[in-house]
Amino acid sequence: MGCGTCFGCCAPHAITMTYSISNRTYIPFIDEKKCIECGICLKVCPGLQMDNTLSTDEMRNTGIVKSIIGKVKKCYIGYSSDASICFNASSGGIVPALASFMLDTKAVDGVVAAEMDPLSPFDAKPIICKSRDDILKTTGSKYCPVATNSVMGDNQIPGLNSLLWIGLPCHIQGLCKARKYSPLKKTRSILSLGLLCGGCRGQEATKWIVKSRKHPIGTVKNVRYRGGGWPGKMKVEFKDNPAPLELPYSEYVDSYFESWQPWRCSLCLDRTSQMADISLGDAWLPEFKNDRNGISLIVTRTDAGEATIQKAAQAGAISIVEKDFDTIINAQKGLMRDCTSIIVPTLLLSRKLKRPVPDFKYDDSDSTPVNTVRIMRRFFMMAITRQMTQSRTLFFILHGVKFVARKAMLKK
Ligand SMILES: Cc1cc2nc3c(=O)[nH]c(=O)nc-3n(C[C@H](O)[C@H](O)[C@H](O)COP(=O)(O)OP(=O)(O)OC[C@H]3O[C@@H](n4cnc5c(N)ncnc54)[C@H](O)[C@@H]3O)c2cc1C
Repeated sequence: MGCGTCFGCCAPHAITMTYSISNRTYIPFIDEKKCIECGICLKVCPGLQMDNTLSTDEMRNTGIVKSIIGKVKKCYIGYSSDASICFNASSGGIVPALASFMLDTKAVDGVVAAEMDPLSPFDAKPIICKSRDDILKTTGSKYCPVATNSVMGDNQIPGLNSLLWIGLPCHIQGLCKARKYSPLKKTRSILSLGLLCGGCRGQEATKWIVKSRKHPIGTVKNVRYRGGGWPGKMKVEFKDNPAPLELPYSEYVDSYFESWQPWRCSLCLDRTSQMADISLGDAWLPEFKNDRNGISLIVTRTDAGEATIQKAAQAGAISIVEKDFDTIINAQKGLMRDCTSIIVPTLLLSRKLKRPVPDFKYDDSDSTPVNTVRIMRRFFMMAITRQMTQSRTLFFILHGVKFVARKAMLKK
């Protein structure tokens, strides 16, 4: 998965995480001379197994959509009361607002988050934030992979008593598994904020966007995927050109971008960070279609998560309105549709083909019958599209064929 949990838990430091183009994420390499074969890397790996917060009986009674959402205490929509956080964040800035509030009120000693690497513009890396200024550096979604959990082995961790951990569902699943094995066992309390996740995309997706707009990769200084209002825009800054490349969200999230999703993300059914204390995403609701500031969808799952939201709201750090359970479904129709019509059939087909699939409890009884041809066509098209982003010749040939075919059809 490239989450970094194995790296963070490996006591003899036998693992290195390296970005792999073919896997479209970071993968661990094991130095066999250092490895003591303790097996902890496999025990903590969320790529192999993920937990679901509902029991099998609860899933059977509630159906697949509820088993995808998991246990819910309360649901809210809201935004940060700080207008500058809201403007620079992805969707209302609840995540940075909570992080900043918890550091200011000393509820935590540190916040684990992700920032774009200032030395390597297409990479994002974990950071342990100790101040509001650090938090401001982390605002906005990073659609490239981040090995956030590699920070578990950081020298600073044993000195921190309480932490706020921000991550994708894989990071939060890894965090839950790793607590008893990593240096985190000395940390008294950890509150987790999990993002909703449609999957990350390998760095080549971003490089393609830059190349296809006729900018050399080597001139890129900085990349941001979201921010600047809602739903925000991608902003690429250059070393030799003061004019940045700016693309609205809807313009760069296309089939070329999507084709770079890592294979393991295509098999992931924890899209809502089920194991987090609080899950957060965009409130893609019709009533906010024309909103330009951003509204976050907030799902509390534990008492600690609910208490944190209430404290932040009472202190005026965030503004929230309580909503019912169906709001989650209505705000995430695309995510739910992906789970039922793409991921579940892909898991079932992969199982039939005896390909390795992650161990995750889910109820597939009300999923549509496996449409083998449709799923195979989808992955075949993604592979071709990915190749098109790598080869200009293939890109022009296939576009030429498409153009000629369309003309012929029109003539007919
Ligand atoms: C890969 C990805 C896919 C997503 N898919 C969906 C989706 O399908 N539906 C949906 O509603 N929301 C999705 N989100 C979440 C959404 O984009 C917002 O991040 C979320 O709504 C919180 O917004 P915010 O304004 O509160 O905070 P933001 O300002 O966006 O802060 C986000 C926080 O998350 C951390 N972070 C960002 N990217 C990563 C990453 N790749 N790995 C680990 N930590 C990271 C940052 O450090 C920051 O602390 C996705 C996010 C990512 C990164």
